[in-house]
Amino acid sequence: MMDLEQRLNLLTQDAGYEGDQLPNVSTIPNLESSDIKPPVCFKKDSKTVPEITYAKKSNGGQISLLKTVLTSACEKDCNYCVFRAGRDFRRATMKPDELASIFHNMTVAGISEGLFLSSGIAGGGIRTQDKLIDTAEILRLKYQYRGYLHLKIMPGAEFDQIERAMQISSRVSINLEAPNQLRLSALAPHKDFSEELLKPLQWAAEIRNKKSPTRTFDHRWPSLATQLVVGASHENDHEILQTSQYLFSTLGLSRIYYSAFTPVIDTPFENLPPENPIREFRLYQASFLLRNYGYTYKDLIYESNGHLPLDIDPKQAWAKQNLFNAPIEINSADQSSLLHIPGIGVKGAQAILRVRRQNPIKNLGDLHRLGINPERVSPYILLNGRRPLQQLSLW
Ligand code: SF4
Repeated sequence: MMDLEQRLNLLTQDAGYEGDQLPNVSTIPNLESSDIKPPVCFKKDSKTVPEITYAKKSNGGQISLLKTVLTSACEKDCNYCVFRAGRDFRRATMKPDELASIFHNMTVAGISEGLFLSSGIAGGGIRTQDKLIDTAEILRLKYQYRGYLHLKIMPGAEFDQIERAMQISSRVSINLEAPNQLRLSALAPHKDFSEELLKPLQWAAEIRNKKSPTRTFDHRWPSLATQLVVGASHENDHEILQTSQYLFSTLGLSRIYYSAFTPVIDTPFENLPPENPIREFRLYQASFLLRNYGYTYKDLIYESNGHLPLDIDPKQAWAKQNLFNAPIEINSADQSSLLHIPGIGVKGAQAILRVRRQNPIKNLGDLHRLGINPERVSPYILLNGRRPLQQLSLW
């Protein structure tokens, strides 16, 4: 019989396979020359168990997260998953009060500031969801925990369960796993894309849009997220980004996690090759273009197989095709047009708009003083009607 700590250690190792994994930027070439650098999460070299994951916050700080599952037992048989039914490995389970208590002790000891909690499915999605909600309620009500809590929604969860989960979480997510039913059938032959996965996400969006957050623990609805497995079902980037656009623009998701497939031994997919992490990274960059930069999935440049090119960031690829012969006038372009220029991110666009209210931008030196790299922008812009290449010597 394993004690509580042994079970938590096992569950935490297993949860490493769960979604919510941001890219490992050490594998990405030419990152410094890109406007779009997705945030990262990482594990520090540490001998502490359970393992703690560190995620960068939007304000620049970082948060230490306990990332775990309530149980690594699962009655489903998804073809890629470490937890799939019948796979031979050492499984563990914790009760809601056990997990809440041990996490509370970790927060008091300063080991972990936030919790990411998921689960294998045991006794159906509804019953498993109840256990996740029980754990979160114990934390919020008994231990008065006010910190970050990312709670998974199980396939097939009911509307009322989703609303309750949203009242006590900082973020909820439902793993779509694939961009559509066809691709999901290859990954998880017994899951229904529309009914079990997409519908709960749509309900969560409906709750956010139509209901007042007065009964939530911090008087606002949590953010919504999902995760897609990349490279195991012959899906292409075009269909992933088509679904991503729907999730951002119609359902208001804050984040889509793209998870490059890695084969797990003793699963039906154990002999499939791992997906190139650069593909995962390009998808993150493209998704930021959809979410923050006003692009649609149709705007982006694809190879003949429907994938984004791996050797160039998607914004640069778009600009090479569209702006070389139609450069953008820096002194009259609106924010959306400025954001389409490689080398100009959100801060750069705002700086240009602010400065040119006083005086027009005259040369590349003016842009340089705003923190914008002249060499990156110069092929794609006009300054007062002229291409600035000949002005390089002026700054
Ligand atoms: S439902 Fe599928 S993906 Fe989720 S834990 Fe079970 S086997 Fe893994």
